[in-house]
Amino acid sequence: MTASRRTAPLTDSPMPTTQPKGNGRARAAAPRPQPRRHASPDPGRRWPVAVLGATGAVGQAFLRLLVRHPWFDVVEVAASERSAGRPYGDVARWLEGDLPDRIAALPVLSCDVSAVRAPLVFSALDAAAAGAIEPAFARAGRLVLSNAKNFRMEPDVPLVIPEVNASHLGALGTQRSRRAWSGAIVTNANCAATGAAVALAPLHAAFGIEQVFVTTLQAVSGAGYPGVPSLDILGNVVPYIADEEEKIERELPKLLGAWTGSAFEPAPFAVSAQTNRVPVEHGHLTCLSVKLGTRATPDAAIEVLRAWEGDPASRGLPSAPERPLVVTGADTRPQPRRDANAGHGMTVTVGRVRRDPILDLRLVALAHNVIRGAAGGSILNAELLAACGEL
Ligand code: NAP
Repeated sequence: MTASRRTAPLTDSPMPTTQPKGNGRARAAAPRPQPRRHASPDPGRRWPVAVLGATGAVGQAFLRLLVRHPWFDVVEVAASERSAGRPYGDVARWLEGDLPDRIAALPVLSCDVSAVRAPLVFSALDAAAAGAIEPAFARAGRLVLSNAKNFRMEPDVPLVIPEVNASHLGALGTQRSRRAWSGAIVTNANCAATGAAVALAPLHAAFGIEQVFVTTLQAVSGAGYPGVPSLDILGNVVPYIADEEEKIERELPKLLGAWTGSAFEPAPFAVSAQTNRVPVEHGHLTCLSVKLGTRATPDAAIEVLRAWEGDPASRGLPSAPERPLVVTGADTRPQPRRDANAGHGMTVTVGRVRRDPILDLRLVALAHNVIRGAAGGSILNAELLAACGEL
């Protein structure tokens, strides 16, 4: 399999869409991808994939999730020049569970297109490195699934959560022709924006959103490894995460907006975010206050949230959880310790849906930052691309 053996572009298959209604702001129907098959390339075979930034917190999560993946087979790992040239097991400080022998024995490669040959590349690179490395791979014909912030807001780069905006993959044709790339870059969202987007998508579709205030409580694993110094975070809260508020404020409208066929049209709402690092291992909580286009009671909102299953294009993919969103009725949930691993880390748990005395609604959403907000989300994006014939 090579990236040039794509069986069909992701541009023109018309399917019914879930659009906002109720406040006259419905978007024009956008072209959207149509899954053609949910199967591996050939029976018993898997697509060879590489992980860039494989030694970091997200890179390790990729390896844990991919080691038994039915469609993808990790054949290469790459990291910085500090790690390159040595066996993975010698350089990676493995954080969770047992490091599989097969992965431990892989040589760590440089993040260079002549060293890494896999046509499908999962990138867990630090943003300082992703800006040059990811486009080099796309130019060389590779399909890059990026976790870094660098390209998320580019006008021709999809920022995708399959259940929320699978149709945004329609931008890939434009990206390739504008940039003359035979490969492509597809990004997933900031880890805190991801949980908020999943919680807000059903409300935006049903009632239209006009304003959102977001306050986050974010786990230390979101800062990578070694991350935040222990004496800064143990028994403490740090009310600042570099660039995080800006990422949430700019990514949410793109995530909940539309691909019109030629451009991304952001959802027409303003976002105000405040972000905090808290001494939790995994799981970002987002406390949301929302002004709706059409007023809705908490019960009506809960009904909409409970009924939401996400875009049909995402259903049945190997990493798709049975439910992308669950609503808990317990006053004390969601909690990172109890709920971050819901749906193997891919389900967003929403709770405390109640009236807001200033805006309309308040709610709390929790997502596993390293799985749904990073590696798992990226793998789900790759599965969607595969199901649409992009591999
Ligand atoms: P991390 O633990 O610091 O890992 C960074 C990785 O990038 C390491 O493998 C490192 O390799 C590699 N790297 C650094 N500089 C490099 C260079 N010049 N050339 C090649 N490789 C280089 O960070 P992380 O938390 O895994 O995050 C990875 C990316 O995902 C970041 O862009 C981050 O913003 C994003 N993200 C993270 C989360 C999360 O929850 N952690 C969630 C969403 C998105 P060495 O080990 O060799 O230095």
